[in-house]
Amino acid sequence: MEKLEDILKNVLKGNDIRITRQREEILKILYEAERPVTAKKVYSILRKKLPYIRLSTIYRNLNLLEEKDILRKVELNMDNRESSFEFFRGEHHHHLVCISCQEIIPLECPLAEYEKRLQKETNYTIIDHKIKVYGICPECRK
Ligand SMILES: [Zn+2]
Ligand SMILES: [Zn+2]
Repeated sequence: MEKLEDILKNVLKGNDIRITRQREEILKILYEAERPVTAKKVYSILRKKLPYIRLSTIYRNLNLLEEKDILRKVELNMDNRESSFEFFRGEHHHHLVCISCQEIIPLECPLAEYEKRLQKETNYTIIDHKIKVYGICPECRK
């Protein structure tokens, strides 16, 4: 089996992004995260390993990786909340967002059947839809 380090190196190479230790480590965190993470979260994890890394470096790299479609930015559409990033594996999905702590859980798309029906009923070609579900997580409800 291919090592994760090699997979991630190939992702960077394939997108003409120079491989640096910092980039590799940032990408690894995103790849392994089960949920979207903010730049600050990446920073707090990475600082233990790379004590001299700067938050601005993380922002810059996350944005670069997003531009190359390696990551996706998850906008929360809430005032003063930071965007989160997730590794883009190509599959369409949605997010459940806690409005208090900003935790984000990926959700399967519930709309495949609905889109088919809508297409039939309206004769539109349906191209896209957006759903974001907001709530309060069990931790914050306590
Ligand atoms: Zn919460
Ligand atoms: Zn969907």
